[in-house]
Amino acid sequence: MLDKPAPALEETNRDAAERWVRAFDAALRACSEAALAECFVDDSHWRNLFGISWYFATFSGREVLVRELLARSRDAAAAGFRIDAVLLAPRSAVVAGREVIEAVIRFDTVNGPGFGAIRLLTSPDGEAKAWTISTTLDYDRICAARDGERSTLHVRDFAEADWLERRRDRAAYTGSDPDVLVVGGGHTGISAAVEVKRMGLSALIVDREERIGDNWRLRYRGLKLHNKTPVNHLRYLPFPVTFPEYIPKDQIANWLESYVDILDVDFWTRTSFEGASYDDASGRWTVRLIREGAERTLHPKHIVLATSVSGFPNVPVIDGIDNFKGPVLHSSAFKAGRAWQGRSVVVFGTGTSAHDICQELEAAGARVTMVQRSPTMVVNVEPAQIYDRTYLGDGPPIEVRDIINSGVPLPVMKMAHKIITTEVKALDAPLHARLEQAGFRLEFGEDGTGWPLKFRTRGGGYYFNVGCSELIADGKIGLVQFADIEAFTAGGFKLKDGSALDAELFVLATGYKGLDHLLEKLFGREVAARVGRVWGFDDATQELRNMWRRTGQAGLWFTAGAFSQARIYSRYIALQIDAIERGVLAKQLS
Ligand SMILES: Cc1cc2nc3c(=O)[nH]c(=O)nc-3n(C[C@H](O)[C@H](O)[C@H](O)COP(=O)(O)OP(=O)(O)OC[C@H]3O[C@@H](n4cnc5c(N)ncnc54)[C@H](O)[C@@H]3O)c2cc1C
Repeated sequence: MLDKPAPALEETNRDAAERWVRAFDAALRACSEAALAECFVDDSHWRNLFGISWYFATFSGREVLVRELLARSRDAAAAGFRIDAVLLAPRSAVVAGREVIEAVIRFDTVNGPGFGAIRLLTSPDGEAKAWTISTTLDYDRICAARDGERSTLHVRDFAEADWLERRRDRAAYTGSDPDVLVVGGGHTGISAAVEVKRMGLSALIVDREERIGDNWRLRYRGLKLHNKTPVNHLRYLPFPVTFPEYIPKDQIANWLESYVDILDVDFWTRTSFEGASYDDASGRWTVRLIREGAERTLHPKHIVLATSVSGFPNVPVIDGIDNFKGPVLHSSAFKAGRAWQGRSVVVFGTGTSAHDICQELEAAGARVTMVQRSPTMVVNVEPAQIYDRTYLGDGPPIEVRDIINSGVPLPVMKMAHKIITTEVKALDAPLHARLEQAGFRLEFGEDGTGWPLKFRTRGGGYYFNVGCSELIADGKIGLVQFADIEAFTAGGFKLKDGSALDAELFVLATGYKGLDHLLEKLFGREVAARVGRVWGFDDATQELRNMWRRTGQAGLWFTAGAFSQARIYSRYIALQIDAIERGVLAKQLS
């Protein structure tokens, strides 16, 4: 995503990293604020991904960082900091425009072994101070230590249930309850269930769709994933090298279905989660499900909501639209463009769905007009990948890239993404000029930080151009600014310049409501108020609100986001639930 490796200066880098980590470890051992402060630059950041204490936050500024790091390291008995040059030989890199030495550290805590990434800035006299440090628990080592404790029984009793029979029995949950119920079986729900199960707890996924993968399968024809395949791997089972650079929707749908089978995940399809209430005394939920038309109640200890940051259609109130006598569909209900050949269709919206639907309709021979309400980021699909640079090209294995990527604190990510957006804009300049000539209004994210932060704040608001922008620029797809509409009529709308546009269908590609909306609908106002907003950044922690961590409601968790986020962050849900069930972490966030 952010780094641009420079020529290796392995020995110097290694010496600098080793010297730094020795000084850092000694400062912590001595509990010396002054010595620890010497290890960091003024504008330094510490991203704690549950590595040193269970508090998920980014601390910025040397003074705050040193105070928090000292206190939390003491509480978690964090010690033995060292460089892991086998995972990553300390290397030179350019991050957010600054030349750094990048290295992976290891340490130990009462909660298990940890690792993280450091980025050091060196002064002309060779002294290195840290600009960023991240800390997380080493999930694989924690699990491996437990695997070793389990005995392997080779004795076979042929009268006993075999693997398949046991699997079916287990997944039926007749007379038993899962420890964790995961609502939603997209990649985020599946990843959470896999990690919970690896921790030795039981997890059941419920999804209202007919078949695993339908969350992709049922989307519009021609859809492909937007990020390159190396960024999107699921944990434990990477995509085969034969997979294309951008995976088509049916292929990813089938992959998810196979993945669930191979990783032996309990999954109920055609099961709708209708709501749940929590009993403080028993520490369990009462969950109402409709499974294949019949009611079913379960009592899990935890619920993980994985219903997507954009799960519920957002149908805006548009004054006067009722005058239109044709059908008005939300984009989620739009299936195929072929039926509209030779007919006029208006699509409201300028995000991904709007563009993809316009393009499909145009290809099917419809007369298409897009209506733009607000400026939108448009980026050609190839330059859009530059934000994911950490995962592309030669380099360390994906596990190490995940450490490096997740070790980027938000303020540094913003700086880096501003630089990348400038680079991307230069590459896309010819397209942008043509779009603006056609009347399309562009923008590039808050403070020019581009699409990834738009995804993390709004869950959308951009388009990766795969051809629709050229159709708009060439006038093959019409473009109207919403502000230019005078009034809606029975057959379309009138424009302020006196012209009119006839249409037979309005498609509202106006996005989706986020998890907040679903939270209140499924759990009621009280729980929603206790939890507060979900997704988007919390100013206090500089992390996504309520994501992958304990919330104001005991036993309620959220996961969402990209494939890479599911791969990295699902483990933290599993680690925390495991710590709660072992009695070392309070279930309720105080
Ligand atoms: C065109 C396109 C390309 C994209 N490309 C990429 C990419 O390359 N890489 C990337 O990382 N991301 C990509 N994304 C973004 C992102 O990964 C998706 O939005 C993704 O689907 C989010 O996964 P999820 O598991 O959170 O939600 P979903 O995949 O939407 O799954 C949620 C599931 O919850 C179920 N559900 C909801 N409510 C209930 C209920 N009450 N009861 C039971 N089940 C329920 C739904 O049926 C659904 O199956 C792309 C998105 C689009 C639209």
